[in-house]
Amino acid sequence: MATTVNAEALNESPLPEAVAKESKQSVDPYNVSGEVGEDGVVKAIDYSKLVDEFGTKKIEPALLERFERLTGQKPHRFLRRGIVFSHRDLDLILDRYERGQPFFLYTGRGPSSDSVHVGHTVPFEFTKWLQEALDCPLIIMLTDDEKYLFSDKRTVEEVQGYCSANAKDIIAIGFDPAKTFIFSDFEFMGGAFYRNVVRLSKHITLNQSRAIFGFNDSTSIGKIHFGSIQGATSFASSFPHIFGTDETKTSLIPALIPCAIDQDPYFRMTRDVAARIHYAKPSLIHSKFLDALQGPGTKMANTLQSASIDESAIFMKDTPNQIKNKINKYAFSGGKATVEEHREKGGDTSVDVSFLYLRFFLEDDEELEKIRVAYESGELLTGDLKAICIKELQTYVKVFQERRAKVDDEIVHQFMDRRPLKWAGNPRAPIV
Ligand code: ATP
Repeated sequence: MATTVNAEALNESPLPEAVAKESKQSVDPYNVSGEVGEDGVVKAIDYSKLVDEFGTKKIEPALLERFERLTGQKPHRFLRRGIVFSHRDLDLILDRYERGQPFFLYTGRGPSSDSVHVGHTVPFEFTKWLQEALDCPLIIMLTDDEKYLFSDKRTVEEVQGYCSANAKDIIAIGFDPAKTFIFSDFEFMGGAFYRNVVRLSKHITLNQSRAIFGFNDSTSIGKIHFGSIQGATSFASSFPHIFGTDETKTSLIPALIPCAIDQDPYFRMTRDVAARIHYAKPSLIHSKFLDALQGPGTKMANTLQSASIDESAIFMKDTPNQIKNKINKYAFSGGKATVEEHREKGGDTSVDVSFLYLRFFLEDDEELEKIRVAYESGELLTGDLKAICIKELQTYVKVFQERRAKVDDEIVHQFMDRRPLKWAGNPRAPIV
């Protein structure tokens, strides 16, 4: 197997230096890095290999056409550009949508600091679009317990303290309060949720856990157990205030989980148990990672135990100047060494971070294509490309910050209150 799990990485995400020592591609919830070439350089993540090794399915044009036909929505730019690229049983969710049967969206965030970076907004942006397209309830889990368990440094109080700031960041993406429930594991644990956590954990052996996550004899039992908490959120019966108390019915309502592909191992495990206990298996829709500024092969992260962290990520609280300086100074360039050589041979958009970021955030397909052609032909220089990327990200972050400024504690309370949600489902579906 080319993809490995790295047990040592479970305390914290690895440092870039540590990543460079791993020779094989490695993608799991605690560690993301591309293969290291013989020259010691980390290569871009090979996503096709992940589809094969994880046993997921590539999102094919026919599936997108069906999505568009059913919902009337043009596929999101992440779908059009293969950034959201893989799935498990998305077709079954579309079957339910077509028949007007219930399902829900589930995604999450580990509150590891008081600010999210642009990479974190990728699954949330996409989830917001899905919520609007599918008109369904959304559950957002804040895994404060995970961020305590998987760090040697953080205290319980610290991670709990980040929840409110992270909830504000998430709400600022633009979720509908009538259809969205946000909860913290520490606060919500108990009752129906805990019953499902225990149902799941009873069916996961230490051996399976080791095989999936690379745990070893020194791993704390808290870390080993955490997978059953992340998994239990994909069961609708964990949320009786939203789906009702009849578990014979609610246990059959599936979740659709938008997340980056590193989270897949949790749900591979959950799907296996769900089938055994006759619960609905969660479906998934996976995105690629927004790379760190330093280049393809690692995901932008904010838990590196290094002072260099601020240099690898654009944070959603960064000022326009910070964004400009970070991109100008650190964004890896696919340009050539001299202007003359660049004009002659052109730049490489497959490794150029400014171009890769534009693929994520520039909405206009034609504009993006023009930029690609101009850069690859040498007409556009690295400085020009960086300037376009800076402008785009400054706007993206500014618009976010304006929405974020309007989210107060009262609004957070509204989203985190245990309450029934309201959604129409699919009004076009025939009544069965
Ligand atoms: P940390 O905040 O400690 O760096 P993390 O990056 O894994 O941890 P989470 O809060 O656990 O962040 O992840 C929230 C969601 O964002 C998950 O679906 C995760 O896969 C996704 N995600 C995190 N980083 C990126 C990235 N660089 N690009 C795309 N998605 C990302």
